[in-house]
Amino acid sequence: MGGPDRACPVCAGQSALRWDGYSSSSWDIVRCTNCDMSYLKNPVPYEALEEDFAWEKTYAAKAAASSGSTPLSQGVRKLRTRLGILHRDKQQAFQRWFNNGHVLDVGCGSGQRLRPPLTPYGIELSKALHAQADTFMKAHGGYCAHGAGADTIWQFPKGKFDGILMFSYLEHEVEVNKVLTGAYHALKDDGAVFIRVPNFGSLNRRLIGAKWCGFRLPDHVNYFTLKTLTDTCRRAGFSTQLVNKISLPLDDNISVLLRKI
Ligand SMILES: [Zn+2]
Repeated sequence: MGGPDRACPVCAGQSALRWDGYSSSSWDIVRCTNCDMSYLKNPVPYEALEEDFAWEKTYAAKAAASSGSTPLSQGVRKLRTRLGILHRDKQQAFQRWFNNGHVLDVGCGSGQRLRPPLTPYGIELSKALHAQADTFMKAHGGYCAHGAGADTIWQFPKGKFDGILMFSYLEHEVEVNKVLTGAYHALKDDGAVFIRVPNFGSLNRRLIGAKWCGFRLPDHVNYFTLKTLTDTCRRAGFSTQLVNKISLPLDDNISVLLRKI
């Protein structure tokens, strides 16, 4: 069922240890012995992802399988509300970080994450979602390109964007280094990249194990901690600022803002 084995997506190392508790007969989740990155060793090829494994289908399956498996989430939600994190206006943060400019949403889904005054652009692999995103984005001055993120991001002119968004995207991308160097190419010198990925270092993952909400096979092919995400981004020329600093140990996600070094 799985595809061919791949090397570490961060350092290209070939030596890795299997996470037996998180792997299955079809899928091998491993940890690189060189750089500590955890990843799916045998992901399926892109062509299959385009339709057979489109995220909207596996998301529904995962939601059913893991319902009730996040005992900490209630407490964490209350804590975040008290800290004012839950209600922070993402749009305002995007506008501030991205200078109210042209923003590319990589893996944009139906494409409605970015609103005016931001000008939305996107990349989406799922044919059905791409069509929805393109209609919405064209109505707001941008457009959505159809394809895989790591290839398609290189089609945009150098320095075009004030901001790039990778929201619940990078955990799906087999070619991590290629898409991040592509982001460096497509970004203005004073632009920023926002990345949100599942937090493999979270307490929930350790408590819940294989049913942790961050595991979604075969869609999630990369499992970042703050350290491995920071290392990965540095290799592409970015400094990393942690956005969810206070909640990180209990948070199922990591949110970071990248700037060109
Ligand atoms: Zn590695």
